[in-house]
Amino acid sequence: MAELQIVVCVKVVPKPEEIRVDPETHLLERTNARSEINPPDMNAMEMALSMKDRYGGRISLLSMGPPFFEPNLRVALAMGADHIYLLSDPAFAGADTLATTYTLVQGIRKIGDVDVILCGEESSDGATGQVPPGLAEWLNIPQLTLLTDVSIDQTLRTARGRREIKGGYEILEVPLPCVISVKTACNEPRFMDYRLRSWALEKDRLTVWDAGDLDAEPGHIGLTGSPTIVTGLAEAPYRERRREFLQGSPGEVVQELAGILRKEVEV
Ligand SMILES: Cc1cc2nc3c(=O)[nH]c(=O)nc-3n(C[C@H](O)[C@H](O)[C@H](O)COP(=O)(O)OP(=O)(O)OC[C@H]3O[C@@H](n4cnc5c(N)ncnc54)[C@H](O)[C@@H]3O)c2cc1C
Repeated sequence: MAELQIVVCVKVVPKPEEIRVDPETHLLERTNARSEINPPDMNAMEMALSMKDRYGGRISLLSMGPPFFEPNLRVALAMGADHIYLLSDPAFAGADTLATTYTLVQGIRKIGDVDVILCGEESSDGATGQVPPGLAEWLNIPQLTLLTDVSIDQTLRTARGRREIKGGYEILEVPLPCVISVKTACNEPRFMDYRLRSWALEKDRLTVWDAGDLDAEPGHIGLTGSPTIVTGLAEAPYRERRREFLQGSPGEVVQELAGILRKEVEV
């Protein structure tokens, strides 16, 4: 039986409190922000590592972004993955989710023979949640979204996932290969293994592919391949919090509070 090939899509994001949006171009200005691995991707990593613990296999980390993503990706590698593929080229800049998914898919195709593609639920900066379904669409393979658990049957070549829904959960099964997005906070990501630190820093643990390496259609990448247009930006209005101190016995206070809440609900 061939070993399980798992790809985890990892986005390196600016720390939310350090992001600026360029008022002219409406693009994210992240050059002065420190970076971290998109927190939901740590849950995807943990799901991949638990699959590797159970079934063996190989975990490839895949990321599209600038070269400064590298140190964060090497930390993720030291959690127990096998290799990093960084898709990096100035031509990829300004990509919307369509161009991002196209570029990631070109990377997945180049890695080859992938069984499971794991993603976080959404990124902490773009937060569209469109990338996992977009990958499945480009690849024309099934997707299981927002899973909290997954098991693989390597003989039948299926993935069986659990998704929490209101009042219970559902079990979904699809043939491999498939795309899986992982519910944020559904597991506890392990720490990096310090024994792997120097190994993870070795040069040949990371492969960088540019647009030429990916054989990418110029019309499908970067700004050119991005039909989404950001037409405007507005600051969310800040609402002053109201506070009121109620006087009286506990019974009177409860009565008055219930009356206030009733009025709020009726409005
Ligand atoms: C018109 C336009 C222009 C843009 N220009 C820029 C720009 O110049 N610079 C910029 O930084 N962003 C830009 N963006 C944002 C960019 O489109 C998104 O960062 C990207 O498409 C991913 O979408 P998301 O963050 O909503 O991911 P989501 O769909 O919320 O992410 C879900 C999961 O997909 C995976 N994933 C997402 N992105 C990546 C990635 N890059 N590599 C690996 N895995 C990934 C992760 O597992 C993540 O948890 C632009 C967006 C638009 C609409």
